[in-house]
Amino acid sequence: MPLTESKYIWMDGEFTPWKEAKIHILSHVVHYGSAVFEGIRCYKTEKGPAIFRLKEHIDRLYFSASIYHMKIPYTKEQLINACKEIVKANGLQECYIRPIVYRGYGEMGVNPLNLPVKVAIAAWVWGPYLGKAKEEGARVIISTWRRFAPDAIPSMAKSSGPYMNNQLAKIEAVERGVDEAIMLDYRGFVSEGTGENIFIIKNNILYTPPLEASILPGITRDSIIKIAKDLKYTVIEKDLTRAELYHADEVFFTGTAAEVTPIVEIDGIKIGNGKPGPITRKLQEIFFKIVKGEEEKYLKWLTYVK
Ligand code: PMP
Repeated sequence: MPLTESKYIWMDGEFTPWKEAKIHILSHVVHYGSAVFEGIRCYKTEKGPAIFRLKEHIDRLYFSASIYHMKIPYTKEQLINACKEIVKANGLQECYIRPIVYRGYGEMGVNPLNLPVKVAIAAWVWGPYLGKAKEEGARVIISTWRRFAPDAIPSMAKSSGPYMNNQLAKIEAVERGVDEAIMLDYRGFVSEGTGENIFIIKNNILYTPPLEASILPGITRDSIIKIAKDLKYTVIEKDLTRAELYHADEVFFTGTAAEVTPIVEIDGIKIGNGKPGPITRKLQEIFFKIVKGEEEKYLKWLTYVK
């Protein structure tokens, strides 16, 4: 799907026209993937656009940057404001926000430490990441590509270069004609989708892989854990085997882009009765009420743009 262009992209403090938001081809990031980034959603509410869990996303961005010794030349408050401003400047009600912190131009070679740390924030209209699967349920495969081991790449940091790993798995899914791929970790336990965390439900209990399974600690994952516990479900973080996926009553993905997406088929095997399950539906319903500001209890997760 081509990008839906908006008017401006925030680049180091300037609202740059979309088409002029460019960097030099010899920027370090282009060659070595030296960037950390976030994906955030902003939803239309009765009180205008509201950004979901903005503080947590900005905290994760700074954490990711710190692992790669990138000193962000702005305070968290400045970037929080910049996210609000870019939504406003583009006149958007509902959008995806993509802050990226990257190593710029100056030297060549792997060593990133002498290169400038630059920041850009884009915002544009982006519908459901997995398209119709949000309603109908996704068909997925287990990728033959494993997720990187924790002593190779820190999965807790959302960094650009390592997404080449995710791309291999995604390509496999697309080539096989399904919506998404699930990766196993370096030990063979379930890790995550190429842009989503994963949950299974068995006998009314929710299970999701732990941090040790080389997952990105997703903010949607955290939200769903909290929401499910508030609904009095038991949620257990534990290693999951491939067979536990096939054997589950329900399986679903969580992610900022994918939101809450049911999974109805894995490797050609139907999950449950092959339809999105009732608990997944219930969690989807409350999640979408929360992001739209319709659940008093969770208003603390919203940052209104105006
Ligand atoms: N895992 C991966 C690999 C991702 O790219 C994402 C999307 N950021 C997630 C999980 C979900 O994280 P979040 O809920 O914070 O968007």
